[in-house]
Amino acid sequence: MSELKDVITSYNSLSFSDRIVFYTTISNDITISDDTQSFLIETRFEGEGYCIYCEGKHVVKNGKRKDGIQRFLCRDCHRSFIASSDSITSRTRKSISVWAAYLKCMLDQKTLKQSSEECRISVSTAFTWRHKILDTLSELTEKTYLTGVVEADETFFNVSFKGNHKRSHDFSMPRMAHKRGNDVHAKGLSAEKVCVPCAVNDSGISYAKPGKLGKISSDCITDIFEEKIAPHAVLCTDKERAYLNLAGLNELHLIQMDADCRTISKEGKNYGIQRINAYHNRLKHFIRGFHGVSTKYLGNYIIWNDLLSGNHRNTESFFSQLWGQILCARITRYGQDIPRRPSLPVAA
Ligand SMILES: [Zn+2]
Repeated sequence: MSELKDVITSYNSLSFSDRIVFYTTISNDITISDDTQSFLIETRFEGEGYCIYCEGKHVVKNGKRKDGIQRFLCRDCHRSFIASSDSITSRTRKSISVWAAYLKCMLDQKTLKQSSEECRISVSTAFTWRHKILDTLSELTEKTYLTGVVEADETFFNVSFKGNHKRSHDFSMPRMAHKRGNDVHAKGLSAEKVCVPCAVNDSGISYAKPGKLGKISSDCITDIFEEKIAPHAVLCTDKERAYLNLAGLNELHLIQMDADCRTISKEGKNYGIQRINAYHNRLKHFIRGFHGVSTKYLGNYIIWNDLLSGNHRNTESFFSQLWGQILCARITRYGQDIPRRPSLPVAA
């Protein structure tokens, strides 16, 4: 059993993308059947079963519902729940297979209209599902850990309050409305741009997150990357001084080069920032396809882009394991709460 524990410990230290690779390697024969209940029970409650409310370990079976679904009771907080409680499928009337079909649409980059027609759901439901799935993945993405040679650079997106006006009675524009998403009032790195620090390592694992408004700062870089870039990793950046503090804290081997410099040779190895530049280009292209992404959802679209960039996304086992991860994860926001998030999720 101790070997199993070792495997679980190692597994827990893997990044989200590494977990997917891990699964695709070991479990080509695993598929999630229609019997999602037993799949959820097995993965969420067997062994180290925990209460979805208090995370207490004293969970016992507690009879079945009329529809045959197993009920559980927590002996610590005395609340009862079923295997799918607090998962992406709870409080939804659609069957699991519709959700799975929708996830496939997302991997195929279908539009909301195409996905809603294919899955026979409304466009607004399709939008809510999109962000329920991406919110769930964002929790998993937070476990990313970059080792090896890491390239980092920041990119910028215009602030957009799209989608904040309709449903909210207390939202007021923090600035004058634009005619279009692209004509930001002040030129340069004004407070109307969101700075997104991005990093990608030599295995292709990436991590990016909206950081702050306007120009990059040392605090922002440290906040975003301190827990994400492994100590002693090699970090390649342009000449930006904001990386110096992070490099000192994590004892990184910092290699800084002029933005137009292609590679630097050190101890027989070549280092560059082409990989992170290519990442920016892909991300910009992806975001442009939505004709303006509301800043409050920007982080989610970054995660979606990362998901599509993986080499494995077209394989059946990748899909199956991704779906398993999503099904088993705890969700933090239900449908009606999806739009209720800060319109500006970054520091000023
Ligand atoms: Zn409990």
